[in-house]
Amino acid sequence: MIKITKFGGSSLANAQQFQKVKHIIESDPSRRFVVVSAVGRANKHDNKVTDLLYLCQAHMQYHVDCSNVYEMIRQRYIQIRNDLHLHFPIERELDALWNQMKTAISVDELVSRGEYFTARLMAEYLGYAFVDAKDVIRFRYDGSIDYDFCEKSLQRLARNNQPFVMPGFYGSAPDGRIRVMTRGGSDITGSILAKCLHADLYENWTDVSGFLMADPRIVRNPRPIRKITYNELRELSYMGASVLHEDAIFPILDSNIPINILNTNDPDNPGTIIVSELDDDAQDDTIITGIAGKKDFSSISIYKNHMSESVGTVRKALSVFERYRVSIEHIPSGIDSFSVVVATKDIKDIIYDIVNDIRKELEPDQIKVSDEIALISTVGRNMSSHPGISGRIFATLGNNDINIRMIAQGSDEINIIVGVENKDFEKTIAAIYDAFIQEEEKQ
Ligand code: ASP
Repeated sequence: MIKITKFGGSSLANAQQFQKVKHIIESDPSRRFVVVSAVGRANKHDNKVTDLLYLCQAHMQYHVDCSNVYEMIRQRYIQIRNDLHLHFPIERELDALWNQMKTAISVDELVSRGEYFTARLMAEYLGYAFVDAKDVIRFRYDGSIDYDFCEKSLQRLARNNQPFVMPGFYGSAPDGRIRVMTRGGSDITGSILAKCLHADLYENWTDVSGFLMADPRIVRNPRPIRKITYNELRELSYMGASVLHEDAIFPILDSNIPINILNTNDPDNPGTIIVSELDDDAQDDTIITGIAGKKDFSSISIYKNHMSESVGTVRKALSVFERYRVSIEHIPSGIDSFSVVVATKDIKDIIYDIVNDIRKELEPDQIKVSDEIALISTVGRNMSSHPGISGRIFATLGNNDINIRMIAQGSDEINIIVGVENKDFEKTIAAIYDAFIQEEEKQ
């Protein structure tokens, strides 16, 4: 059994968290390949080392002294090393980095050091080998992952049969220079390892016990999601439910490796399992997996008589949005009208130009722009086999006096999206949750 075990920054915030990690690793002999984020935040007053490193970089860019910020980073690592009675000469490494910062260092290399130092300390603490991500995680020049390279180097390492700790978040370009991923990228490193080492399970340890069916700031005590498919997760995280990096599922999409989201502070909680598909015979009567949403969309509605008989109208409108590089969220349509739904922030400075261009190129009878729209997605893999779900959602919103501004459904029928006014956002999520879950609980 091969498990990839990745720990996020809050699981590594101080010596006490390191002890919890060690306990978790030692309680299961298949936890032999460990990926770590940088030392993170133990509570909301704490800082993440990666943020502090970016802050140093911002100071350096404007030639402002950053020694105070660097001192905070230094102290975090020295404290952990001392509290755990480790021997790693962290001062020497920190001094070398400081000297390098005074001469020349790339942003990527600088911010990657958070993970590097954390992995160094964790490797000594666990008695595992340290593997530098720059030697095994390789990017192509276009930024994509060179899986052939990664697989060869990781397989070679695994043959040694030596358990190891590797820093997440970075790798190297073909010229050997360090390159980082987007923020939160250690989740992706874990996935790359899972893929290349043909793992049976990718455990992603964080500070929550997996995903909840709805945002707990909106719904009181929402139920945990025990199982979710990659596709459902994609829908929910796109709509704002964030526990795992959005791109972390891509490396393992074809290999069917499950990801288990687990809580370092509550290790006996089973968390959430993310799978590519559920077995047909697995007892699965969930109708709704989760509800998530985002505020602040705009809709540009275009009306033109006899539109249904003309050809190319939608294409012409979309090409206007393309020209202004605005990404389109949904295109609900009627017979002689359609709307283009986009994020308000993407059009707020250019909306007059967009409307003018549409007017010129489409000669519509009317264009209407409305803002303050929230999109709420109700996600569930079994919705397609249960008729009447959308009816229940719409009835619920009607009973709660919530005006539906638009409706959309993904082609794989795993979600139903409703657009409502921003002010009804929380009310809508709570009402849908109540209609499906509270009622079920009452029965
Ligand atoms: N330390 C990096 C960040 O804060 C990467 C990670 O934690 O995954 O974004």
